[in-house]
Amino acid sequence: MNRLDTAIGTSAFDPAATEHLTRLFAMSPDLLAAAGFDGLLKHFNDAWEQQLGWPRAVMETKPYLDIVHPEDRSETELQIGRLAQGETIAEYVCRMVCVDGSVRWMAWSGGPGDEAFYIVGRDVSERLAMEHELAQRADRLQGTNAELQDFAYTASHDLSEPLRMVASFLGLLERRSAEDLDEKGREYLRLASDGAVRMRHLIDDLLTYSRVANEEPRREQVDLHALVDDVLAVLGPAIAETGATVEVGELPTLEAEPTQLAQLLQNLIGNAAKFHPPGRSPTVCVSARRTTGACVLTVADDGIGIDEADQERIFAMFTRLHGRDAYAGTGIGLAICRRIAERHGGRIYVESTPGQGSMFHTLLPDAPAAPGTPRQQAFA
Ligand code: ADP
Repeated sequence: MNRLDTAIGTSAFDPAATEHLTRLFAMSPDLLAAAGFDGLLKHFNDAWEQQLGWPRAVMETKPYLDIVHPEDRSETELQIGRLAQGETIAEYVCRMVCVDGSVRWMAWSGGPGDEAFYIVGRDVSERLAMEHELAQRADRLQGTNAELQDFAYTASHDLSEPLRMVASFLGLLERRSAEDLDEKGREYLRLASDGAVRMRHLIDDLLTYSRVANEEPRREQVDLHALVDDVLAVLGPAIAETGATVEVGELPTLEAEPTQLAQLLQNLIGNAAKFHPPGRSPTVCVSARRTTGACVLTVADDGIGIDEADQERIFAMFTRLHGRDAYAGTGIGLAICRRIAERHGGRIYVESTPGQGSMFHTLLPDAPAAPGTPRQQAFA
């Protein structure tokens, strides 16, 4: 029985099987070898020469550790030690030095034998280079994202102070000197004050968006019923103005960041009460249902509805489907909702029929997976 038979567990000598195995051995693009514990390769295929460039005649007498990169030798010796003790190894990655001095990254798997151990090596240099490139890009993107978020936060924060000044002096002007102005002057003053109020809303929404984007949600058990009650109390005046009826169904307790979830509900319920045809009081329903591994929160209304073509883009920042005269707003609310859903590992989407109403669904997984970070590879 030759070594190859031993390696694959063939018990009887079969010349035809040996012939097949010899051919397969020669054809393999992976490096295959039976390596001796004396440090020399006993039996190895042509892939060694094809990929590393060392002539067969050289490899027959050259200790295999000599072609392992010097920095990886001691770890490789440890792995060989494991094989000598009868263990198997899988995906051990080390650098091999080619005859021209270049370096290839090889992933080795091995198993023990009586007089030798058996190894299979695959060139993973390109895969590692790609993973390395991906990880670097992800790092760069994360850096740029963080900078943009910092910028958005700082800009909106720093705009607040001068705006407060403009608004308070406009107020002062209105109180002190409105009577001295003619009709046109008073109109200009009113327009300027309206502009300041709108800008205040914009800045507040931008700050909320940056906060949601920057802060990791701190999850805790949230009684959704109590949370909706709080939100309805905050929205009280706005809801009363629209004459909306709000129906609240059975709501569970779930794990979430309470402030963010309240913000999401406030935006959705506020929109549901706002976007209805003039002269008709809207009905808003808040409900929840369980699906496998998730809770789906739904805010439904019988308002103006949304065309199918707009149902995706309304979640983008600053998208508004109507003029300010028809419905007030900044176009940031749904972008905040989407961010909150994503920060919880979930998503938000809408089902709607124009003229009949909309249902905004927020899917919140029970145990959201951590956002995927590409595996970092030590690669030089
Ligand atoms: P805002 O309410 O400040 O305009 P949002 O980001 O909350 O901004 O919403 C974006 C746009 O999506 C709204 O301007 C409106 O056109 C549309 N929209 C949002 N909610 C509803 C709804 N419940 N019914 C109809 N249209 C809606």
